[in-house]
Amino acid sequence: MIVKGLSSTDHPVQAQIIPMRRCNLACAYCNEYDDFSSPVPREEMFRRVDHLAGLGTTIIVISGGEPLLHPEIDDIIGRIRRHGMIAGMITNGYLLNQERILRLNRAGLEHLQISIDNVMPDEISKKSLKVLDQRLQWLAEYAEFHVNINSVIGGGISNPSDALVVGRRARQLGFTSTVGIIHDGDGQLKPLKPEEMAVYQGMKALNRSSYSRLNKFQENIALGKPNQWRCRSGSRYLYICEDGLVHWCSQQRGIPGIPLLEYTVDHIRREFLLEKHCAPNCTISCAHQTSYMDFWRAPQQKLPALRKSHPELFQIAPSGVTTAASSDVREEEVVSR
Ligand code: SF4
Ligand code: SF4
Repeated sequence: MIVKGLSSTDHPVQAQIIPMRRCNLACAYCNEYDDFSSPVPREEMFRRVDHLAGLGTTIIVISGGEPLLHPEIDDIIGRIRRHGMIAGMITNGYLLNQERILRLNRAGLEHLQISIDNVMPDEISKKSLKVLDQRLQWLAEYAEFHVNINSVIGGGISNPSDALVVGRRARQLGFTSTVGIIHDGDGQLKPLKPEEMAVYQGMKALNRSSYSRLNKFQENIALGKPNQWRCRSGSRYLYICEDGLVHWCSQQRGIPGIPLLEYTVDHIRREFLLEKHCAPNCTISCAHQTSYMDFWRAPQQKLPALRKSHPELFQIAPSGVTTAASSDVREEEVVSR
């Protein structure tokens, strides 16, 4: 993957696709779900996967909403794998059971991430260790794919120390663990409070063996400091919404807002060189990690964004009081596997 990624910049490294915006939960901080939408038809998802394969995409991550609500999610995973791409999924885990895990094995899923917000459910989030622990045990027993448990601090999460409990349980079960920071809905970085910083340091210690490869970017996020980097979203990282439009990321929807099926290598090349105004305060780790391999490459320019064909999707206001981020999907991973 790294060799392919380094050998050319004319293809996406990672694309996130949304087969369904509906979710079975309603986390207070989330703006990436509804409670009514239908699944994107299987054939349409196949067309999108095929197009991403044609663009040379390396990894496709399926998220939502809740992707396991899609009745044909196994077929979508299978389609990704048949093209030789890596298939990942981000889920709230509620719909996992032994049979479901075995089906994901058969479909060829390679990576799964569950975000757990707290130990006990509260009014902010029901993604709780108490509710999900049995499902984690099933995953430990049956899953043939890699499992990462992401816990969160900041925002409306009332007990920061829960992240450490979740992280330790993940390691106990043989999973990797990460921690994400939820920031306020204005999109600005804010330093962690002392108690939250202590948890962050604890997660670093928990994952000491892998922390060394993390960089200043994540440390700055925890401290609330801006980062200087070149975001290659729209090029190396694509966010494909349920309507099939390409966006820079979940937090910059509407740019460029071009239908995936019309997306070409010319778009990829242009976006590669386009400076993203939001980069200094960005907290989206997957975009950063995807862009990191190209940090030494061509500097970016201040060009006008391609077009905002869907301005109503740009900078969505948060539905809750705390953050514009779904913790399933887009909070930054501060501690990596
Ligand atoms: S954070 Fe995830 S589980 Fe919660 S409402 Fe949003 S999509 Fe659903
Ligand atoms: S918010 Fe972050 S990932 Fe999204 S376009 Fe801006 S810099 Fe890139």
